[in-house]
Amino acid sequence: MSTSTVESVRVRTIAIIGNPNSGKTTLFNALTRLRQKVGNYPGVTVEKKEGRITFHDGSEASLLDLPGTYSLTANSPDEKIATDILLGRTAHTTAPDSVICVVDASNLERNLYLVSQIIDSHLPVVVALNMIDIANSEGIKIDFNALQQQLGVPVIPTIASRKMGIDELKKTIETTPKSNGVVRKWSVPEVFARECDELIDLLKNYHKVSEPLAFHEALDLLTTQTPSPHQLDRFSYELMEHVKKDHRRLDFLGIDRQSVVIEARYKWINNVCAIAVTQTKHADMSLSDKIDRVLTHKVWGFVFFFALMTVIFQSIFTWAILPMELIGDGFDLLGQQITRVMPEGDLRDLIVNGALAGVAAVVTFLPQILFLFLFLGLLEDTGYMARAAFIMDRAMSKVGLHGKSFIPLLSSFACAIPGIMATRTIESPKDRLVTMLVAPLMSCSARLPIYTLMIAAFIPSTSLFGILSLPALTMLSMYLLGLTAALTMAWLLKKTLLKSAPPVFIMELPRYKLPSAKTILLKMWERARLFLREAGTIILGVSIVLWFLATYPRLENGTASEQINQSFAGRAGHLIEPLIRPLGFDWKIGIGLIGSILQREVFVSTMGTIYNIKNADEESGTLSLKEQMQNDKDPVTGKPTFTVLTAICLMVYYVLAMQCLSTVAVMRRETNGWKWPLFQFGYMTMLAYSVTFLVFRVGLWIGGGA
Ligand code: GDP
Ligand code: MG
Repeated sequence: MSTSTVESVRVRTIAIIGNPNSGKTTLFNALTRLRQKVGNYPGVTVEKKEGRITFHDGSEASLLDLPGTYSLTANSPDEKIATDILLGRTAHTTAPDSVICVVDASNLERNLYLVSQIIDSHLPVVVALNMIDIANSEGIKIDFNALQQQLGVPVIPTIASRKMGIDELKKTIETTPKSNGVVRKWSVPEVFARECDELIDLLKNYHKVSEPLAFHEALDLLTTQTPSPHQLDRFSYELMEHVKKDHRRLDFLGIDRQSVVIEARYKWINNVCAIAVTQTKHADMSLSDKIDRVLTHKVWGFVFFFALMTVIFQSIFTWAILPMELIGDGFDLLGQQITRVMPEGDLRDLIVNGALAGVAAVVTFLPQILFLFLFLGLLEDTGYMARAAFIMDRAMSKVGLHGKSFIPLLSSFACAIPGIMATRTIESPKDRLVTMLVAPLMSCSARLPIYTLMIAAFIPSTSLFGILSLPALTMLSMYLLGLTAALTMAWLLKKTLLKSAPPVFIMELPRYKLPSAKTILLKMWERARLFLREAGTIILGVSIVLWFLATYPRLENGTASEQINQSFAGRAGHLIEPLIRPLGFDWKIGIGLIGSILQREVFVSTMGTIYNIKNADEESGTLSLKEQMQNDKDPVTGKPTFTVLTAICLMVYYVLAMQCLSTVAVMRRETNGWKWPLFQFGYMTMLAYSVTFLVFRVGLWIGGGA
């Protein structure tokens, strides 16, 4: 949130604010002409985004894309950031020099609430009346001049997605005056207005509060039930005493301080709309509404949701197979080439069996991750994601959470980090914390390689009822297990540590629209880049270190198996073996578990490296990792290392265990301390251990102790 202060003194700043989905980011992109880094957090404008705008006279200004908000008095962290920046309430920024308020023309009444608050703050503002194409198609006619007259600030019609009205908007911003100077238009009882003006005066003259802030804080002070810590902290004892006296006087007069302003604003808004808006054709049910009748239906909505999920997992599983095999073959070929041209020795070993085997084991999963992101992108860009949240609201309310919490959980299917960031739209701090604590239980894309490896190697590829493949169903079960665990934990946390009243469900369903190929491809590309970068850095590094740990200390003479057994890695594996034996895991899996504390995918690369070293002298170079794991036997008992049960246990363990340092780091940042990330790491590890133990026991019992 901090900008360099030198910068902000020199360059004019203009902030874009508006309701969620009103088109802020689209407008921001059109104005800056610079494709912005949306970051890793698709769909949510969370971070402050900054860009440059060049005016006709060649001068420049800095443009801010603020998080969406319905009002300046709302409470989610996202909305607070927007308000704080807009009013210059943060430590390092002053209020912007001017504001573009983006308004969804097809939803004028609701959007005007924020506009009325911004006008009151006296900030120089231009209203971008966006989405007039949609308003038109819905038969809403807006008289732009009348609206401008009513508001007292410039109104420019735009269609941001088609870059229409952008030039006009730019010209208007260039010439906006320093302050909008509009006098309060909504009417409140005389006394209230007088107290308010008095407070503004005190704030401005004795507390050196800037003008926009003074208008805002005065209303806040008058309407608050009890002063907030922020207010007590910021204002003098004398001022707060003054405020208390005002409260008593207004309460005595029977004025409902909390609702009087809100009601006055809505009355004013209704009036403005009556003058400036005409509904030409009778609003018939839009296509979106018709679709929603089915897709948000109590029964059909659920049926569709689960059918869709099944199709998605089935597709991820089947479509990705061919490209995955091709990538695997490519790496094999590369390994063979290197083996051919390099002299035998440790270096060749390190490259082929260490680095290459580790990286290959992980990169093979790129196609699946791309498919996962393709589907998530489609769900999000068509507008279905919000429906999923709506459908899941009933389930969510059973565990005491808001439907809104489901979107962070859904994003966590991709990665828990954007999921945790997306919780910033949740108003209640406790609900937000609960959502963050359970988000990493949702199966992220880093688990995909582990599931796939285990399923491909040990789950028979037969099909049920002729259509549903057993491997795909197994994978779906892992995702459902994660979801169930997340909901159960949320319920438990809400009942115990983080008790609070269940929230009310208000959520807006955006219109359905055709997905944009560009948006989705961009997201897939960003994810692919990130994934390959990790493979080229972390995975490569860990694979090399692991090769050393698995190769030294050298045995004078002995098979590769004995060698690995005696190596540093082997010893570490043996060290924790007693701890993981009860879960059905041997010391080799132990090495994988230790390595993947950093990051889950490392498990797969670890197995790749270990089995490659282990089988180096057995002429099994052409065997895939999958086959090597299938063939692996305990040298003493002759029993296979992996059984179907081991594979299931291992997947269950990874569904529930934390095993991701990046998530810990993000949790620390978002909760401002170590307490919650440590709690999360602890409870997830215990949960993983105990559930896996149970599954293993029950599995043994069913299998007759096999
Ligand atoms: P934000 O949440 O305010 O940043 O909204 P976005 O900029 O992400 O826009 C939300 C959706 O509305 C996107 O799919 C845009 O393509 C679309 N959109 C933006 N402006 C317009 C417009 O003027 N007309 C139409 N039809 N769609 C728009
Ligand atoms: Mg946006």
